[in-house]
Amino acid sequence: MKKKIILTFDYELYLGKDSGTIDKCMLEPTQKILESLKRHNANGIFFIDANFLVILKQQCLSGYQMVKKQILDMLKNGNDIGLHIHPHWIDSYMISKDRWSFRSYENFRIHNLNKEQISSILKDSFKELDLICKEFSQHYKIDSFRAGGWCVQPFSSVKEILKEIGIKYDFSVLPGMKKNSLPRHYYDYSLTPNKPYWKFADDPLKEDSNGDFIEIPVTVTKLNIFSVLYNKRKIRAYSIYGNGKGAYSTSGFFELLKKIRIFIKYAFSSDYMSFDVFVKNMINTNKELIVYVAHPKNFSSESFLILKYCCENYNVIKYKDIV
Ligand SMILES: [Zn+2]
Repeated sequence: MKKKIILTFDYELYLGKDSGTIDKCMLEPTQKILESLKRHNANGIFFIDANFLVILKQQCLSGYQMVKKQILDMLKNGNDIGLHIHPHWIDSYMISKDRWSFRSYENFRIHNLNKEQISSILKDSFKELDLICKEFSQHYKIDSFRAGGWCVQPFSSVKEILKEIGIKYDFSVLPGMKKNSLPRHYYDYSLTPNKPYWKFADDPLKEDSNGDFIEIPVTVTKLNIFSVLYNKRKIRAYSIYGNGKGAYSTSGFFELLKKIRIFIKYAFSSDYMSFDVFVKNMINTNKELIVYVAHPKNFSSESFLILKYCCENYNVIKYKDIV
């Protein structure tokens, strides 16, 4: 029997000095992803950077219309839509018609905003995305969330608002992984239940069968240092769709030193992973459910091979089918 896989995509521009263009980072690669999914009779969930949608509607209406059309296409093809938020869009400025940069990254982590700001950013972004989904169907309900930069802790800062807007599923956890470059970026998922998904109430890392939320973590694998080096060399040759620059980097020399280990954890993703390294890890994993993550902006020709491989060799399921 084929193993199960859930395909998740984060639909967004770059979040660093140059956002890149909507065409190259979102529309073109996503069109090809949608075609590939359709060919394989498969579908996934697209987490839409909805705070960006708010900015886009205000500053570039023609771009907004194209992005909106593509979100409707995702839905028409049977895909799901989830809420994704990068709060530092509030510090963005336009550098040309559909290209932005950021004055500051202080608000990269939603928890750096005050209570009122967190509430309004979540509600306004949700409202914008919901408006589009309701155009597809009055009955469509957005019930899934992935925090920008995976920063969902402490959950108490967002819990009540997420509940109020109808979020049930959280996809923000990367089991075993952690990052600390506070105040800008932080998550610590070192200790997570060793399960494909679980219910929780106040803390995504603590199972609670009476909780209102369900955590569906991204599947993480370990690459040994030789695979990492091999992979790095291979992906250097690939050209990706996106024409922007990644989020700010805080990795100095000591950060890098800390990262050097025999095994390094990677999310199951086609972003920056060669086909052979990805497939080898998929074959070797003992997980009964794989939750894959990818960003259209990072898609290369190799990423399409990985997506094709997943669709042909795994049973692609919808997240609602598991619980
Ligand atoms: Zn994101």
